[in-house]
Amino acid sequence: MKRWFIAVTGCVLWFVIGTAWASVSRVSVLVHLEDPSQKAFLMEYTFQGIDSGTLKVAIPTWTPGWYQTMPYSEGIRDMQAENERGEPLSIQSVNHYSWRIDTGGAQTVRLRYRVLAREEGMGFFGVAMGPHHAFINGAAAFVYEMDSKNVPHEVRFRLPVGWQVATAMDFASQSEQRPFGDVRDTFIAPNYDELIDDPVQMGHFDVREFRARGVPMRVVFASETGNILCNMDRITADFQRIASVGIDLFGSAPFKRYLFIVHLSGRGFAGGLEHLKSTVLNVPDRRDLNINALAAHEYFHAWNVKRIRPKVLGPFDYTQPVRTRALWWCEGVTDYYAYLLLLRAGLIGDRDFWQEMEREIFTLENNPARERVTLEEASWNVWEGNGMGYGGLSYYNKGKVVGFLLDVYIRGVTGNRKSLDDVMRFLMERYGYPKPGFEEDGILQAINRVVAQDVSALYRRMVASTEPLPYDEILKYIGYRLERQSTSTTYFGATSMVDEVGRVIIQAVESQSPAFLMGLRAGDIVMEVDEEPADRRIEDVVSRKKLGDPIKIAVWRRGSLVVMEGKIGGETRYSIRLTPEPTADDAVIRVREGLLRGTTRVSAQAGVD
Ligand SMILES: [Zn+2]
Repeated sequence: MKRWFIAVTGCVLWFVIGTAWASVSRVSVLVHLEDPSQKAFLMEYTFQGIDSGTLKVAIPTWTPGWYQTMPYSEGIRDMQAENERGEPLSIQSVNHYSWRIDTGGAQTVRLRYRVLAREEGMGFFGVAMGPHHAFINGAAAFVYEMDSKNVPHEVRFRLPVGWQVATAMDFASQSEQRPFGDVRDTFIAPNYDELIDDPVQMGHFDVREFRARGVPMRVVFASETGNILCNMDRITADFQRIASVGIDLFGSAPFKRYLFIVHLSGRGFAGGLEHLKSTVLNVPDRRDLNINALAAHEYFHAWNVKRIRPKVLGPFDYTQPVRTRALWWCEGVTDYYAYLLLLRAGLIGDRDFWQEMEREIFTLENNPARERVTLEEASWNVWEGNGMGYGGLSYYNKGKVVGFLLDVYIRGVTGNRKSLDDVMRFLMERYGYPKPGFEEDGILQAINRVVAQDVSALYRRMVASTEPLPYDEILKYIGYRLERQSTSTTYFGATSMVDEVGRVIIQAVESQSPAFLMGLRAGDIVMEVDEEPADRRIEDVVSRKKLGDPIKIAVWRRGSLVVMEGKIGGETRYSIRLTPEPTADDAVIRVREGLLRGTTRVSAQAGVD
């Protein structure tokens, strides 16, 4: 009921936005920073070509790439508006994220406000500032006119002397010789979505540049102290190899330039956030820093999630959580590809790849949430979860394992003629931004099309059920077996003593333990266990039982006999090993090699590697 309601609201909203006339024809923003010790930017907006009596201005309630509500409006202060004659206009707060400006018939309106730099460290989701650096993640700083998200937005910067700007935004005088703009440039985004999807690093930082298959790329290293330990040249060389194999996979790059912003900081969120043609990687600095897997994940997002995406992930509704069942594909499968890119770039070996898959399967198989929550549920409910999934199930983890199994399956059933790469390329061609995103069954349809058969049953088992994953059915295509060894520990949660007259008395019961849940309480006198007279401590009885064994206890409590039944709790840990079958034939070995080298029979015949 709730899901349906939300889905319908979403559709209606898009219909309205899609057909509404923009109230404004052009939006320009000056990002002004005079003194970083003030810990705030002054934002000066000019709305031109206004044909409406009111402007509805809002700040997002979340940022693309992180599916949690963010309190961005708390950083917006001192909002003021005036017309072209400098006369003040009235502003009313509509709700916690939007305001209404009465234009009084003005065709040009200037809006000023301050954005507080409230994020610690170098910044990630929000706005951060220090004596020599500042960072803006667009959703935290740029407001939008609610009917004018699709008009061009222009940005200029006025910063302290000597400060630089790094962003992947387009700019007026871009050329082959000057692919990235700098602090003097006027930057241009075709719409608000793109404006806020190019984060901006400001201040002093180190820069490395390279080309990957001809596409200009830049790595910016920024730290709070300016004293950098990591090997920037080695990291840059690795990024170049990752970037190249990513472009090879799709045949071309969907961006004119790409920017890696590396924040070397032990503070704030540790990780990476994807953007349309850039990424921010926030990691503690160290001499032997290796962020290849993180960088490959975020870089692959430039295709998968920034362009190949479910409908709700662009154009965006920033006013409320947007839901999709496909985040496992956006995140988990992206992480599978991160390791494929590293393998294809020669930055890890086959053994590292198998170990990574073993680690992920180990994590999944030892997580009891896999028996309660499906991948689709973990995706849909992430807003009520922790940003990684829901109900204890991470869609990064299970999504990655499912991505691996899907790749093996597709290669297996097509005799290595097709692979998950073909599904990616199909999705990119069919739905790649700026085309509209895919419907909720879009991934299944794409796989069916690539494989040329209906794989619904297998797909639903893996993503829409809690059934065990069909490891051996699928791994046989590459001549592998999943070896699983289990060790169980038991847990009951009650302690007892035998008193001087031989009575067994419960001393303590842990809350929510199996003993507690079956009704046992401190002070109970145990009369019988499993219909035998009690003559020893309850712990000694339990220690002879196994996980899941039934137990029946009769106790004397406040003058009456209470009989209760329950089960021994505990957990089973599985160790996981992916083992090659010694008897695999040549056809199977070819599929296995295809997986590891990123080739299919088709690409091998065409001489493409
Ligand atoms: Zn991601």
